[in-house]
Amino acid sequence: MAIIQVSNLKKSFGELEVLKDVSFEIQKNDVVAVIGPSGSGKSTMLRSLVYLEQVNGGSIRVADDFLVKDGVYSSSQQIKRITGKMGMVFQHFNLFPHLTVRENLEIAPQVVKGEPENVIRARSGELLEKVGLSDKANVYPAKLSGGQKQRVAIARALMMNPDILLFDEPTSALDPELTGEVLQVIKQLASEHMTMMVVTHEMGFAREVASRIMFMDNGEFVESGTPEELFTNAQHERTRAFLQRAL
Ligand code: ADP
Ligand code: MG
Repeated sequence: MAIIQVSNLKKSFGELEVLKDVSFEIQKNDVVAVIGPSGSGKSTMLRSLVYLEQVNGGSIRVADDFLVKDGVYSSSQQIKRITGKMGMVFQHFNLFPHLTVRENLEIAPQVVKGEPENVIRARSGELLEKVGLSDKANVYPAKLSGGQKQRVAIARALMMNPDILLFDEPTSALDPELTGEVLQVIKQLASEHMTMMVVTHEMGFAREVASRIMFMDNGEFVESGTPEELFTNAQHERTRAFLQRAL
């Protein structure tokens, strides 16, 4: 089953055409790595999926519901429901600085879903344990390392029980010695069959963890395939040139 189906997506900022006729599908349990040069439209594509950017044309279907169909958006109520199925993890964490770690996890389920306190508390405890941060529940983000902040951001995204997690360069803002702990968490989620789409520059990670890699260049997906196909037998010169530079 396709969790996300994108067809003929177009997005411009003024005169600048950033997404040109982008189409792809994410199936349940896929772990898709998105690679490509800086400025190629990767963030814009992810942000469009969760309605942080509005597209100028094309369709985004999440499970059975259209977020946007042929350039026409659903009602705001529908949009809320649909974007609620997706969790997003950003390069710069985007934690709430005035809330403790636990409060960062619990705020959306409380405010958006109005779930019972004890249910929320049990889940935040579980997820903090999962990302190895049980002992940081009551501290503020400023007291955490970048790697710890990003693990909190992942736990926070998981609090809403999303059908898919989207990551926009989750380790790019981290010191090199801290990337491993974050990639390890994503790897663990992959082994638990979490459906994920990860924009990343970590080629080793993409090769090891992704079920499929999609290469984006200049606002379009040039090619996609298994890690083996892309790394050893890329069909397009643009892909080969990028991989040569990146490896
Ligand atoms: P990537 O994530 O692959 O580096 P982006 O999606 O961030 O690429 O950006 C693609 C292009 O769109 C770039 O040329 C960038 O400068 C431009 N861009 C991104 N966001 C905006 C914006 N809000 N306004 C104008 N231009 C933007
Ligand atoms: Mg980006």
